[in-house]
Amino acid sequence: MADQPRLRKPDTRTALAELLSQMRATFPLDAPDSRLCNLDCNGCSKKLLEFLEMQIEDWERRLGEGETPTFGDLEKLGRMARKIHRALVRNGVLSPDRNPEARS
Ligand code: SF4
Repeated sequence: MADQPRLRKPDTRTALAELLSQMRATFPLDAPDSRLCNLDCNGCSKKLLEFLEMQIEDWERRLGEGETPTFGDLEKLGRMARKIHRALVRNGVLSPDRNPEARS
């Protein structure tokens, strides 16, 4: 029987770094209040973005210190990004086609 090619173990550090960079490119972390605030907020866009930025900065620091995230960490961060993305779309801050986990 022929040898099966060995599957390379996915690198969660690289995957998480890519997700963080995608999130920074997608979410308007530096947007002024005039862009975020409207009269019909369905969840505070400002607070959601502040929370998201803290999560991004925390993981950037942890990766910088050499930590290796688990698949659970990746999944949790991706799920949180999708939830916040949906809220920002509802509030009219983002358009629906800018998905933080969209593959190019
Ligand atoms: S809920 Fe938040 S985003 Fe909406 S108007 Fe108030 S501060 Fe601005």
